[in-house]
Parts: sequence; structure tokens; C-alpha cells
Amino acid sequence: MPSSRKAPVIVITGTPGTGKTTHAQLLAQESPVPLKHINVGELVKEKGLHEEYDEEWQSYTVDEDKLLDELEPLASEGGIILDWHTCELFPERWADLVVVLRCDHTKLWDRLEKRGYPLKKIQENNQAEIMQVVLDEARSSYAQEIVVELQSEGTEDLESNVARIVQWIEAWQKDREQS
Ligand code: ADP
Repeated sequence: MPSSRKAPVIVITGTPGTGKTTHAQLLAQESPVPLKHINVGELVKEKGLHEEYDEEWQSYTVDEDKLLDELEPLASEGGIILDWHTCELFPERWADLVVVLRCDHTKLWDRLEKRGYPLKKIQENNQAEIMQVVLDEARSSYAQEIVVELQSEGTEDLESNVARIVQWIEAWQKDREQS
């Protein structure tokens, strides 16, 4: 964790539909330090950080080098929330906290159906959630003590999760002031 950072880098990850963007938006509003919400999927589209569009999966193949180059200065500066469905690509040194959102798979199915995802994509994500693919990925990519698994099934979860992250930020700030 570079000492120059005045605000942390918080990764919010999880299977699509678990609530990353909803959490990141609320956290950006409630955080005691300014945090910029970076929706990595949107950034990839906006800046063309991808190779080709995969019609079958209806998604972009990300150009990982371009994406890392784009994010590096932001991560070094700190004060960002990285909202993406995968996190193993990010260098370990970037993250101060990695939040993995989880959701019951039947609820996730409904959310993805509402979003208009094709059946194949819903099934793939549903399986990934059952098999806790993103959680395992986070645990194998970062130090155990910075990875937090949080349920995201309803509004109460959303509010308590964000309140918990806010407390974590306050503790992170205090730590910084003391050292
Ligand atoms: P992601 O960014 O992980 O793909 P979103 O934040 O876009 O997920 O959420 C997907 C859908 O599920 C949205 O309609 C959102 O309102 C809903 N949702 C996500 N998390 C919660 C939650 N904790 N409580 C209620 N609704 C939620």
C-alpha cells in the first residue's frame, strides 16, 4: 500500500447482477473521503479498451494491457472504487480493500433476466455465483485480510454493507494519520 495515497482504492467485485454498481454509487455518496466510482466495463467501452465484440457472449474482449495503463495513474493516486466482475487482473498493490458481493442464485437469475441477458449468459453467471468463482479469484489474488465477502440480497444489505465500508474507510484514515 503506497504511503502517498490520501484515499484508498476499494475494489467492488462479484458476479454480474450482485449489486456492484448500486453499492459503488451509494458508497461514493456516503464516503468520508472523496471516492470516484469507476465502472470498469463502461470505461472499457468508452475508451475502446477492447479487442472485438463477442456476439455469442454479447461482451467485449478486454485489452488488458490498455486497461491497466489507463487505470494505473488513478490507482496510484487513490480515491477510487473499481467496480468490475473480475479482480485478478488488478495488481495486488493497487487494492486496499476488496469487497466481493454475493447473492442467492435464484435472485441473481431474476436480476439478470430483468436486465435482458441471453439465457446462456444468465446460466453462465448463475453457475459462477453458485461455484463462488469471483470469491475464490479474490482470495487467491489478494491478502486474506483485505478480502471481505458481503451478501447483497436486499436494501437492508446494501445499506449495512455501505455503512461497514464507510467504517472501514474511517479506520483506514485514522491508521494513516497515526503512521
Ligand atoms: P452489478 O453492478 O453487480 O451488475 P447492479 O448494481 O447493476 O449489479 O444491480 C443489479 C440489479 O439488482 C439492479 O436492478 C439493482 O437495483 C438490484 N440490486 C443489486 N443489489 C441489490 C440489493 N442489495 N438490494 C436490492 N436490489 C439490489
